[in-house]
Amino acid sequence: LKTVSILGSTGSIGLSSLRVIDEFPGLFNVEGLCCNNNITLLKEQIIKYKPSFVCIVNNSSLKNDLLESLIKSFPDVKFYFGYDSLLEFVQNPVDILLSAIAGSAGLIPTLKAIPHIKRLAIANKETLVMAGDIVKRELNRYNVEMLPVDSEHSAVFALMDKRNISDVKKIILTASGGSLRDVSSCDMKNVTVEKALSHPNWSMGSKITIDSATLMNKGLEVIEAHHLFSKDYDDISVVIHPESYIHSMIEFVDGSVLAHIGVPDMVFPISYSFLYPEMRSNNFGTVDFVKIGSLTFKDYDPQRFPALNLAYHAGRTGETMTAVMNAANEIAVTAFINKRISFLKIIDIVSEVMDIHEVVTNPNIDNILDADLWAKKKSEEIIRSIEI
Ligand code: MG
Repeated sequence: LKTVSILGSTGSIGLSSLRVIDEFPGLFNVEGLCCNNNITLLKEQIIKYKPSFVCIVNNSSLKNDLLESLIKSFPDVKFYFGYDSLLEFVQNPVDILLSAIAGSAGLIPTLKAIPHIKRLAIANKETLVMAGDIVKRELNRYNVEMLPVDSEHSAVFALMDKRNISDVKKIILTASGGSLRDVSSCDMKNVTVEKALSHPNWSMGSKITIDSATLMNKGLEVIEAHHLFSKDYDDISVVIHPESYIHSMIEFVDGSVLAHIGVPDMVFPISYSFLYPEMRSNNFGTVDFVKIGSLTFKDYDPQRFPALNLAYHAGRTGETMTAVMNAANEIAVTAFINKRISFLKIIDIVSEVMDIHEVVTNPNIDNILDADLWAKKKSEEIIRSIEI
């Protein structure tokens, strides 16, 4: 029985991970659950999974008597409230920590957890984008394995398994193209929040769905792949594959290519990351090739989707630049979701903030957090000056 702690248990990845745990009874024991503030769903999860530790990060948004009655209802559970106590919560030792908090908020809890876990299943790509080198150093220091949960990276990880890295010439990340892949450049400026949130293939949280619409998600994934597989940016490419059945590919020096194909559902990468190196049969469904009929590919349009080239630039610059890009993007995406700015402004703001950032070389974690805060402040300033 492996113990599991889930950061972000009421989010999209968290819910899929509980489906995985349900699918393999007797294999996993949910030790820790952590959510932002969805207390209704959290209660159901506590009743079903009987965790020992529970954390509500955004407790200030909830009424005190609600929290008190929660504590009373579950006397066997140790509760943690607030961000500071989340950093204590993650120090409870478990076999597997699933890091699935959205955005930059995932970095420090994930880092703090590393000395107390055996395996890090990482869904929070921002952690690697912001501080990939530092995270890898910590993982090495405490001898902790890292398994990617992002579907593309899970695919690459599976394809790379027991291969000689020097035989791999290129990683080819596939991108669905997001909700705006068929929108013409002149219609891009009028894109509504509702339209941008309607992803054709994947059901995900709102931040990542908007990131898919701008292609920033793929940009973050290029940086994530660079850290996970130690490949140069020149050797990581992106191809639009609207059907989302090929989750990514690797090209070998001899010209042959391996593709990872599967149903687009996060239960697959999550169960891979939990079970590895084992594999078990499941009822998650299989690919029906005849039904799919055809798989198509095209290049991305850098005019309509400038985010991807911006992310390559941030990645190649490295240092604090990736954290700055990520922070500016996070603030701009939230402003778009709150209808404060138009869709095209998201990447304009990211680009503007990156332009004025003075890179700190060889950054430590404090330098990275400073850069993150600085970029968030700058972005907010720009947003306030252009708000609609
Ligand atoms: Mg992905």
